[in-house]
Amino acid sequence: MKYFSAECIYPICSPPVKKGVIVTEDDGTIVRLLPNKQGISEEIMEMNGILVPGFINTHCHLELSHLKNKVPSGTGLLPFLEKVVSFRDMDQSIIDEEIRKNDAYMYDQGIVAVGDISNKSDTKNIKSSSKIRYYTFVEMFDFMQSSLTQSMIEQYSEVYIQHEQNEKNSKSFVPHAPYTVSDELYTFIRSKNSDQDTVSVHNQETNAENELFINGEGDFYQFYKNFGFDISRFKKTGKSSIFKLLEVLNPFSKTLFVHNTKTKKEDIEAAHNWSKNVFWATCPNANLYIENSLPDYKQFIEKQANMTIGTDSLSSNWQLSIWEEIKTIKKYNNYIPLDTLLEWATLNGARALSFDDTLGSFEIGKKPGIVHIDVQWNENDFDILSSNPRRLI
Ligand SMILES: [Zn+2]
Repeated sequence: MKYFSAECIYPICSPPVKKGVIVTEDDGTIVRLLPNKQGISEEIMEMNGILVPGFINTHCHLELSHLKNKVPSGTGLLPFLEKVVSFRDMDQSIIDEEIRKNDAYMYDQGIVAVGDISNKSDTKNIKSSSKIRYYTFVEMFDFMQSSLTQSMIEQYSEVYIQHEQNEKNSKSFVPHAPYTVSDELYTFIRSKNSDQDTVSVHNQETNAENELFINGEGDFYQFYKNFGFDISRFKKTGKSSIFKLLEVLNPFSKTLFVHNTKTKKEDIEAAHNWSKNVFWATCPNANLYIENSLPDYKQFIEKQANMTIGTDSLSSNWQLSIWEEIKTIKKYNNYIPLDTLLEWATLNGARALSFDDTLGSFEIGKKPGIVHIDVQWNENDFDILSSNPRRLI
């Protein structure tokens, strides 16, 4: 048995416990959560700061780890995407090494599970051997070109086969974003996934995306031209882009809408009316890196949205750390309580990926990982901005 204590323990499934003790098996399985040290004769690992369950990173592209510091920040989404595509071909040994390093980095930062977007199979070996649980989202797009759909289906079906599915890891087919997927491809994706799968999709990351669907105009026409594609026959819907997704995705499976920087109250309401299985992933550092903006968190909180946190990739972030994402949200939205952000970063993410059988909270029988954060108490809240996470188990 192991015993851990700190100034405050956040079980997530129940209120925080000051000076409590977590008792685990040697392998980290939670045995008990005690309100104090009374009656314990064994050695207790006592710390300042707080203890939280391992973090869930619901949105990452681990295979893009070699793009760190390669793409300029602050350009906006469309120039960013063009730049990323131009860097895709690199020496395989560099790509493999960066994937390995950043899987290890995420583990050290207290991350226990990752929802990982894959367009390739570069990450399959590390996902098999990693101590992190992975949900691989095999991401498909055909630039809304029917002439490309069949070859994309063949290409990504091969990627899907390469990634493993077992007790630890899961996988599903997912669409990239409403502006890159044809109706035929949505039909394929829907036919391949079951109601038990989670589907992730990039959503409302830039105003141009809504403009395209609402008015049938904006920067996407030039973006497609630059790639040599013609979208002049694109039919606007008169509604924001998320409504297109609500038409074509399966309301019975879990859906994880990613980014949502331009999502409005009526979009959230529509998604919640469409399905009870809606989750939202926010990637604040990537939003600042690419578009210099953040989602309006207030409206998500008011609508009691299931919020989760992702890092996105190293092409649009300085590091892959959920604690750094929490710090960024807190820095610009100090009104959101730490308890709330911790729930987003742990249990909500575990539920979104259906990994809450073992992860997400200090519940007896789970093996969620224990992360120590060296926060200092400051007036009436923890001062988290200068703190760091440390993985205990
Ligand atoms: Zn992404």
